[in-house]
Amino acid sequence: MTPPPPEPPVRGATAPGTPLLEVRGLVKHYPLTRGIVLKKQIGAVRAVDGVDFTLDRGETLGIVGESGCGKSTVARMLVHLERPTAGRILYKGEDITRLSGRALKAVRRNIQMVFQDPYTSLNPRMTVGDIIGEPFDIHPEVAPRGDRRRRVRELLDVVGLNPEHINRYPHQFSGGQRQRIGIARGLALRPEIIVADEPVSALDVSVQAQVINLLARLQDEFDLSYLFIAHDLSVVRHISDRVGVMYLGRIVEIGTDTEIYDHPTHPYTQALLSAVPVPDPAARDRRDRILLTGDVPSPADPPSGCRFRTRCWKARDTCATEVPPLAVPARPAPLPGPARHASACHFAEEKPAAGSLPGRLAGPVLDPG
Ligand code: ADP
Ligand code: MG
Repeated sequence: MTPPPPEPPVRGATAPGTPLLEVRGLVKHYPLTRGIVLKKQIGAVRAVDGVDFTLDRGETLGIVGESGCGKSTVARMLVHLERPTAGRILYKGEDITRLSGRALKAVRRNIQMVFQDPYTSLNPRMTVGDIIGEPFDIHPEVAPRGDRRRRVRELLDVVGLNPEHINRYPHQFSGGQRQRIGIARGLALRPEIIVADEPVSALDVSVQAQVINLLARLQDEFDLSYLFIAHDLSVVRHISDRVGVMYLGRIVEIGTDTEIYDHPTHPYTQALLSAVPVPDPAARDRRDRILLTGDVPSPADPPSGCRFRTRCWKARDTCATEVPPLAVPARPAPLPGPARHASACHFAEEKPAAGSLPGRLAGPVLDPG
C-alpha cells in the first residue's frame, strides 16, 4: 500500500492588507512579591511594556536587543506559553490572545517555536524520532500513526540530518545537529509562522551560518514567516526583511534592514551598530564608535519618559517627562518601500554634531573632544 501523500499545509486566506500576525500594545508584567505565604505584591517586573509590530506572510522580522529586554517573553506570549498582562495578538486579523480549547489548539499548530538552547530543550531520554514526532501526539490529524516514522524520516532529511539516525539520542549529535532536530520538530505540524528565539546563540560561530542558511532555505520551501530573535544585530542582518530593536521592554526602532543598518535614527540602534565587529581594519578605523555608559536600568523600575535617556547622549529635559512614541520619522528623501521606519526618539531626525557626543569615540582612539 502506498502511504498517503503529505498533507498540504493549511493556508487559510488572509484579507488583503491584513498582516499575518499583528501585535498591539503587548504587555507582560511579572509581580514582584515579598513573603512566602501571603505574597504581598511590592511591584512588578515590566518584562514587556507596550510592544507593537506586524509580520507579513513570507516575511522575516528580526527582533534584537540586549539580554533581559523582553525578547523571550514576547516569543512565549506569541506561542501561548505565557499569557499577556495586556494587549492583543491578532492572527490573520482574528484576536487570538485569549483563545482556549479547540480554537487555541488550531492556532498553536500554525505558530511554532524553535528554542534557544538545543542542549536543554531536547529531552535527553527520548530518541530523535520521538522528539520530532511528539507534536503528532497532540495533532494526530496531521500524521496518522502508521505514517509517523516515514514523516519523521522525511523531516530529518529536510533539515539535513541522516534519516537512519532516527533512533539515536540527543547526546549523540553536535550542537548544530541538535538545533536541526529542534527545527525539524518545529516544522512537523507544517506551521505558517516560526518564532525562533535566539536559535543560533548557543552555537559555535562556524555553525551559526549553516543553521541560518537552513532556516532561509526552509522558509522558501515551506512558505514560512519568521520572527527571528537575536541579541546581536549582525546575526539577523542577512535573514531579516525588517528588524525591530528592543530596549527595556519596548521596541525603540523598527524598519527594513536597509533603514536599520544603513540609516538608523534611534541612538540605541546607533550604539548597537557601532559595537558590531567590523572585520576590515580600515573600515573599523573610519567609523564612529559609541560606547554606552552605565548599565541597563531594572525593568522593575524603568526611567520615566524615554527609557533609554539615562544612557543617551541626546537626552534633554523632555526625555524625562514625555514617552517618545514609536512614530514614523519624516524623512526628507524617503527610501523606497513602505514608510514603516519608526523610531521612538524625540530627536530622531536630529543629526548629531561631530564630536558633541559624550561617550562617543572617533575610531579606536579615545577622543572625548
Ligand atoms: P530576553 O529574552 O530579552 O533576554 P526575557 O524576556 O527573558 O528577556 O526577560 C525580560 C525580563 O523579564 C528580565 O528582566 C527577566 O528577568 C524578567 N523575567 C522573565 N521571565 C520572568 C518570570 N517568569 N518572572 C519574573 N521575571 C521574569
Ligand atoms: Mg531570551
